[in-house]
Amino acid sequence: MKKLICPLIIFLLVISGCSNAEQTKGEKVIDGTKKLHIVTTFYPMYYFTQKVAGNSANVELLIPNGAEPHDWEPTAKDMAKIQDADLFIYNSRYFESWTEKVLKSINDPNLTVVEASKGIELMNALASEEEEHHSDHASSKDPHVWLSPVLAQQEVDTITKAIEKLDPNNKNQYEKNAQDFISQLSDLDHLYKETIAKAKKKEFVTQHAAFGYLAKQYGLTQIPIAGLSPDVEPTLGKLKELAEVTKKKNVKVIYFEGLTSSKVAQTLANEISAKTEVLNPLEGLTKEEQEKGLDYIDVMKKNLEALKQSF
Ligand SMILES: [Zn+2]
Repeated sequence: MKKLICPLIIFLLVISGCSNAEQTKGEKVIDGTKKLHIVTTFYPMYYFTQKVAGNSANVELLIPNGAEPHDWEPTAKDMAKIQDADLFIYNSRYFESWTEKVLKSINDPNLTVVEASKGIELMNALASEEEEHHSDHASSKDPHVWLSPVLAQQEVDTITKAIEKLDPNNKNQYEKNAQDFISQLSDLDHLYKETIAKAKKKEFVTQHAAFGYLAKQYGLTQIPIAGLSPDVEPTLGKLKELAEVTKKKNVKVIYFEGLTSSKVAQTLANEISAKTEVLNPLEGLTKEEQEKGLDYIDVMKKNLEALKQSF
């Protein structure tokens, strides 16, 4: 089914979306009258870009908060949005795996494309995971770099350079915005470092394997229930094995996410009489987080508070 959807979308775009793009683009921002128009994929890409852009550029979020970005596929309307932009920013071909096909079909010389994780050395996916995935999904690398406050700074740097190149008139403003935000991320890194340095226990059990870079950064060990994508659910045998391992390690907390079903995490928690806590992989914000006006930094701090329950 999935294989059929993409050509269909491309066809719809060709007949509906292409025609008006030519008129709105082209004048660009060089004359200083039109703001740079940036389309970003999911929440962290939107947030990082917004922090750098400030009021000097328009930033749009493509994948709505609350949608599951691992499974998300663009509609013809979404593709038209990308084509209308001056700059398109996504995290990684191993996360937004639809980008390769879509960008090839758009093939617009007036569209600048940035893969924010470019230049970061990605970790390999677990061998068992590769076997579970189907061949049409690029899944051999772990794309969850935004959850490391250190690697996030690298992504912000890549995003900043791209924005400045397209809109040199506002370069000083972008530079200042980026520096302010990077110092916030650096404070966050210090907070994680200090807190985790005191931890007696280094293992934490997550709903899916999103926290590999965060674990690596601070010397923790992630024990994931599902794979790199939340829809790769464990078999009954794997779940039994997890129950044994976590019992042996005296795990007291099982983490679940806000946006995906917590059934498996709950089952494991019941099995080993552990309590549950929320650890948000920031693949979007929950409704509650949006209502409270929380952002990436706030949720990362909440995640650290939740992690402390394991330490
Ligand atoms: Zn994920």
